Amino acid sequence: MPTLDGVAGTSQPVVVVGAGAAGTMAAIFAAESGRDVLLLESTNNGGRKIVISGGGRCNVLPSRMRPSQFVTTSSPNTLKKILLSWPLSEQRAFFEETLGIPLALEEETGKLFPVSNRSRDVRDALYAHARGRGVDIAFDTRVTGLKSPVSDRPWRVEHAGGEISARAVVLATGGLSVPASGSDGGGLRIAERLGHTIHPTYPALTPLVCDPPRHADLAGISLEVELEAPLQRGHFTARGGFLFTHRGYSGPAVLDISHLAVLSLMDGGDPQEIHVRWTDAGAQEWDRRLREGGTGTVGPLVRRELPDRLADRLVAESGVDPGRPLAGLTREERNSLVDVLARYLLPWTGDEGYRKAEVTGGGVALSEIHPRTLESRLRPGLHLCGEMLDAFGPIGGYNFLWGWATGRAAGLGAARAG
Ligand SMILES: Cc1cc2nc3c(=O)[nH]c(=O)nc-3n(C[C@H](O)[C@H](O)[C@H](O)COP(=O)(O)OP(=O)(O)OC[C@H]3O[C@@H](n4cnc5c(N)ncnc54)[C@H](O)[C@@H]3O)c2cc1C
Repeated sequence: MPTLDGVAGTSQPVVVVGAGAAGTMAAIFAAESGRDVLLLESTNNGGRKIVISGGGRCNVLPSRMRPSQFVTTSSPNTLKKILLSWPLSEQRAFFEETLGIPLALEEETGKLFPVSNRSRDVRDALYAHARGRGVDIAFDTRVTGLKSPVSDRPWRVEHAGGEISARAVVLATGGLSVPASGSDGGGLRIAERLGHTIHPTYPALTPLVCDPPRHADLAGISLEVELEAPLQRGHFTARGGFLFTHRGYSGPAVLDISHLAVLSLMDGGDPQEIHVRWTDAGAQEWDRRLREGGTGTVGPLVRRELPDRLADRLVAESGVDPGRPLAGLTREERNSLVDVLARYLLPWTGDEGYRKAEVTGGGVALSEIHPRTLESRLRPGLHLCGEMLDAFGPIGGYNFLWGWATGRAAGLGAARAG
């Protein structure tokens, strides 16, 4: 770690803790404001979530964004202010023009990926740009604590090898999801020790499981669906890909609704009901098709709309013989078929937890940070950003958008300190 003493010895740098999406962006913008910046990272290479993201392609950004798509237990207004601080068009320009990573739109999903389809390019370009701006990156350096300034003394950043003085600190240590990537909640505990409120954390954007697995034989089948979770205050719907897995269910639509499932189990109540509409047709339309289907039978009609194995399974679960002529269906049989086709009650029993969660729900209360600079309202000179804050977005590049926007704001804010 040759840079640690060097930088710490010359002047008091802005110290950024965590070289993930948010921390690296914070370091870049603090350095562009003319500050010495030291970026400390516990793993030996950093940016691991960027590298594994988007199936190795890195969904850098979405092509559209509405703040209402994000989930927080803090104030939605604060969330909105933070999100809009770096408009999506400017974020895109930063990647394409400043970093030299052209992005391509995936039409069917609205996601933006690097043209190279290589997530490593994104991580490497961020690090190269940071270093080009003078940021010192120290790997294998786990921060264990922060001491806030007393009278005119600076921040002290504690790590295994000693302590570093800092004019300001950016904490960007991520949440609890996929601990093997380096984010294990240690930063949340540091924030808590400094007096911050941590809203209860939970795995979000995580696959659901069914124990015993009812549909393991359908593993690998994927299709577009609509999921609906009837909540007391309005319905939550998620449209998109659905994937049968050996243990349960995954795909963007399942991941997007999974936090409600997780929370219902954490509350100790009944598992949240999740209904699946397997095709574009809703209940009324299926009822009409079954009534007006003419001379055909049930099996082939359903097979026309769904993958064969799934069609056969759903008809079997309805209890109606697939060879039944449509013209002879009773009202009861029609209702059973409509139930499995348009409002199927998904038999889930649990979730894959942080091991597979793409993000962490809950985290540092947004009310305790200034929305413009992300500076702690409790500890001036401490800025917090990224997944450790109480907010996350759906699948589609929204979580990196949050990481980039909060990282930039925290970096600019920290550079103004002192
Ligand atoms: C499999 C997977 C795929 C994903 N795909 C996408 C995608 O395509 N698009 C999208 O928008 N989002 C995606 N996400 C979500 C996205 O990766 C996260 O939202 C984002 O990485 C969070 O950034 P962060 O900088 O806040 O935290 P992290 O990326 O977790 O970075 C935190 C960093 O801090 C380091 N650190 C932790 N504690 C310490 C410490 N005490 N001292 C020093 N360093 C420390 C960690 O090692 C880590 O490098 C995906 C997530 C997963 C798990």
